[in-house]
Parts: sequence; structure tokens; C-alpha cells
Amino acid sequence: MIVVMNPGVGEKEVTIITDKLKSMGYGVHLSTGENRTVIGVIGQRREEVAQAMEAMPDVEKVVFITRPYKLAGREFHPDNTVINVGDITIGGTELVVMAGPCAIENEDQLLQAAEAVKKAGAKVLRAGAFKPRTSPYSFQGLEQEGLQFLNDVRSKTGLLIVTEVMDQFTVDEVAECADIIQVGARNMQNYYLLRELGKIRKPILLKRGFSATIEEWLMAAEYILSGGNYEVILCERGIRTFEPYTRNTLDLSAVPLVKQLSHLPVIVDPSHGTGLSGLVPAMSKAALAAGADGLMVEVHPNPQEALSDGPQSLTPDQFNTLIHELKGVALSVGRLI
Ligand code: PEP
Ligand code: MN
Repeated sequence: MIVVMNPGVGEKEVTIITDKLKSMGYGVHLSTGENRTVIGVIGQRREEVAQAMEAMPDVEKVVFITRPYKLAGREFHPDNTVINVGDITIGGTELVVMAGPCAIENEDQLLQAAEAVKKAGAKVLRAGAFKPRTSPYSFQGLEQEGLQFLNDVRSKTGLLIVTEVMDQFTVDEVAECADIIQVGARNMQNYYLLRELGKIRKPILLKRGFSATIEEWLMAAEYILSGGNYEVILCERGIRTFEPYTRNTLDLSAVPLVKQLSHLPVIVDPSHGTGLSGLVPAMSKAALAAGADGLMVEVHPNPQEALSDGPQSLTPDQFNTLIHELKGVALSVGRLI
């Protein structure tokens, strides 16, 4: 259930309620809006507790949340969540563009990609050091060495870094180098990993599993939020359907739907969403028109030689053109890029 406090009620009054709930064994999460605080109460549903809370002078009402995700839902947090990372915000008027190669292949390739995406206007560099590959014979990523390259490129370019973590054992080392930690589609329901990410205080980019329903995706976010890490960015990256002409089917209807259901920022990855670089520009524009808070796009200095995901990667020139084209789309939906 959620306890909605009266408008203007201060911290002291809120603490009286949260202390009472904690003493009854409930977990509490606070959502502090512009004019009122909402307390998310996690634990057994009991009518008498709800009635007792509603009788308190500073409480406006108590609402039972019927959906299985509580903290990820709009009822708990009616305003959009806006996440500040470095000098950017995600989920506000500004749109975020994260771009870079699928994988870190060597220092030179990473630096070239980083400089190109920065020049085009991206603020966040994406690049994987730990790569979840379908085949054990494919390039598996440079792992620790890749993180080192990311650190160097971050200090050379000033770009923020988003990079994937694959398991709960490497969270600390990835967190040391990443400004945003990516959870890949294959790990969306890795609950040990999600729990570990709930314990840290760094934004998490949670990609939708390719067979995950929207509810399962939001429940995965709930794992992280319920641990106390409220900075989750959702990323739609395509789902598996019967259509083989594209790598995945990019579910753009998920964007406005998730925005109705949840307060969390939603970005779109048209690269994995289609698997084809020729479709990336159109789907990027469509994503922004659908209300996405940003994009994650694969860009490689030389896609033909990429060790992973070359066919869906843009060249630096194509990316530059795309960013220019996106400015108009952004303006038309009242956003800035
Ligand atoms: C990636 O971003 O490179 C990646 C592996 O994506 P996904 O987890 O969406 O397949
Ligand atoms: Mn990739």
C-alpha cells in the first residue's frame, strides 16, 4: 500500500509515520514530490493498518496498489523520475544519446569511436567490456582490460560511460568505472545480480529481456528499487517475434505504455531492436516521437571490421547525420537533444 501525506507535510511528521510502520515490521520507501510525500509500504496487506494510518492527522489517504510492481509504478511516484548523471539529466526535457561500439576491441578503436560520438553530440559512451555472446566461440570481450581502456577514454574525452555488468561478482569493479551500469537483455531476470544492484547508488540501465513482458520488465526494475536504488533507466531493445527479417521486433508501443505505468525514464536501442544499420535512423526518430527519453545507438569506426554487431552499427558519419535529423524530431515533441 502507499500512504499519501497531506500537501506540505514536513520530514518530522513523515518520520513519525515511517517509524510506526517500521516498528510493525514493514519496509518503507519514500517518494518526495514537489508538494507532497508518498510512503511506499512493503509487507503484508492489512486493513487495520491501513485504517490506523488513515486516522493519523497528517495522512491524506491510504491506497492499496493492485499491480505487482509497487515502487516502479506511477501511483507511488506520480512525477517522472529524473536522474542526474554528471552534467546531464535523464527523464527530463533533455534527451540523452548514448552511443559507441558494441564491444571494446582495443584502445584505439574505443578512442576513435568515443571522439566521433562526442563530436556528433553524444554525452554518454556505450561500450561493452563484458560481452554476453550467444556463441562461446565468438569474441567474449576484453573484460578488466576493457574497463581500463574505458577509464582512460573517459578521462581523455570527458564522456560519461555506460557499460554492462554480467554477474553479481563484478558489480564493484564495473561500478568503479561506469557512470551508468547496464544490465543486458539476457540478464534482465538474473535476480542475484538485480539484488546486488539494488544495494549500490549508481544509475542502472535495465534492458528488456527479449522474451519479457512489460510486467516482467517492471518487476525486474522493482528488484533494484526495492533494494533502495531508485535510479533505474528502462531500455526497450526489441523482443523476439516470428519475424526473421529483423533481429528483433522493436516494440515502440512499450514506450508510451511504460510511461503510463511507470515513472522511470525509458530509452530505446534501435540497433539491437532491428539488427540492421539501415533501419536505425527511422526507428530512432520513431522512438523519440513515441516519447522515449533517449537512445542507445551502436557506432563503430569501421562497422565492417567490428568483432560484434557490425551489421547494426552506424559509421561515425551516419551517426552525425542522424543526430542532426533528430534535432527536429526532438523539438516537435517539446524535447531537446
Ligand atoms: C549490448 O548492448 O551490446 C547488448 C548485448 O544488448 P542486449 O543485452 O540488449 O542484447
Ligand atoms: Mn551489441
